[in-house]
Amino acid sequence: MSDIQEIIAGELTIPVDTRHWINGERVSSACQFEDISPITGECIALISRGGETEVNLAVDAARAAFPGWARTSPADRGAILNAIADMVEENNELLSQLETLDNGALLRSHRRGVMPRVAHNLRFFADWAINELHHPDFETRGHVNKVSWDPSGVAALITPWNAPLMLATWKIAPALAAGDTVVLKPAEWSPLTASFFAELTKRSGLPDGVFNVVQGFGAEAGNALVSHPDLARISFTGSVPTAKLVAKAAAENLTPCSFELGGKSPTIIFDDADLELAVTLAAEQFDNAGQVCLSGTRLLVQESIAPSFIEAFTAKARSIVQGDPREEDTQIGPQIHVRQFDKIKGYVDRAKEAGAHIVFGGTPNENKGGLYFCPTLVTQAEVGSEILTDEIFGPVLTMQTFTTDEEALELANGTEFGLAAVVATGSKERAEKFTEHLVAGTIWVNCFYVRDLAAPFGGSRKSGVGREGGTWSFDFYADVKNTVYSPNGWKE
Ligand code: NAD
Repeated sequence: MSDIQEIIAGELTIPVDTRHWINGERVSSACQFEDISPITGECIALISRGGETEVNLAVDAARAAFPGWARTSPADRGAILNAIADMVEENNELLSQLETLDNGALLRSHRRGVMPRVAHNLRFFADWAINELHHPDFETRGHVNKVSWDPSGVAALITPWNAPLMLATWKIAPALAAGDTVVLKPAEWSPLTASFFAELTKRSGLPDGVFNVVQGFGAEAGNALVSHPDLARISFTGSVPTAKLVAKAAAENLTPCSFELGGKSPTIIFDDADLELAVTLAAEQFDNAGQVCLSGTRLLVQESIAPSFIEAFTAKARSIVQGDPREEDTQIGPQIHVRQFDKIKGYVDRAKEAGAHIVFGGTPNENKGGLYFCPTLVTQAEVGSEILTDEIFGPVLTMQTFTTDEEALELANGTEFGLAAVVATGSKERAEKFTEHLVAGTIWVNCFYVRDLAAPFGGSRKSGVGREGGTWSFDFYADVKNTVYSPNGWKE
């Protein structure tokens, strides 16, 4: 195969140059790796497999580009970010097709939700840097404090495969808007949209070296990147075990890190909840075949309504259409990779062996073959067992019951994570009292997935370090500075 891969997506043939993107040019490596589509199990492209050499080139390019980009005004940076957003919108179909082929998430979601959101990420942070990023001056004994956000240097961005371009642009947009330059290492299971996006940045007028992409494996390109001594920031989204490796490498250079990590979030359903709404919220936890960090995978249901909830939820789950993510009526596609599929199956099989009850699902989808795992509900799992404590990252929910609000809180807070929580109740007073003591970066009451970029986003406990969104993103990517003006010493 040549450097430009012809990706076949239905009627379309999409050329993607899958080499690294360094200093506004394509750079190849001696080795390539195969990109396998979870839909067909076939290799759809060969991707350059980077390591220390390519990382060094990319960081050098980003360092060289930094002074110029840092001096570019927020308005001029914003104009380029908006131009990239325009390009994303123009290329919605191609980006959506590539992302679906690569990670198996729904094509219609990519077209209607995700790619518009990618463009929004770029516009939002460009606009925030221009219009919202200020702190009122304040006085100390007649002296005036002025707070500013200065560009900090090269930001290394490491991203996962479950929402590749969406999660990458949550980082790329604020980093570039803050005046940093960027080296992105996308996940090796979903590299295509990052390669395609790189081309769009150039066509939108982004100066060479401001945005760079090094493709490759975590242990090679990823490790080389986070170990680099010339980084100003590392922003990582992925799993807890990898975050620990990143933190160790970063510690060597004292590079500041932001971590968006995994979860084992609760969905708490009280007896006064609207049952239909509660069932809908529970079913939404199967989105993206359960490969969502925020999923409320532990259903905690008040005992008195458990039988009626299980009956309604089972009926709803049986109506979920699982299949090819490119088809319009499909609701759940395949898992991303055979390793992920085997991991999920392993958790469910071990839970069954240990005596847990499978209400529905519990097996691969025999009718579909491949990487399709049935939406699954597990009850009666042993307290403290792995299926109740570990992040599975598949379409597997557990259910436990509780009688009192205190018991619900204890169960909800009873893991090492604290990313999100979903609460279903008909009582605002109960919701306010209960959520006060819930440990979670984001809580949704009678809703799910509503996320404004102005809101703080991140995890408590092992679910993360730091927050993204609005000014919180700039607090991380920028060097926040306070300048104190004396009332004395002025000659004019
Ligand atoms: P992962 O930790 O395996 O990989 C994430 C990224 O890290 C990939 O790009 C990978 O190549 C890279 N990597 C691996 N080893 C590395 C190393 N030694 N040094 C540097 N980089 C390395 O995670 P994943 O399986 O790709 O993604 C799933 C995980 O991500 C889940 O735990 C999920 O909850 C989490 N996630 C969190 C959020 C959030 O916002 N909190 C969002 C999406 C996904």
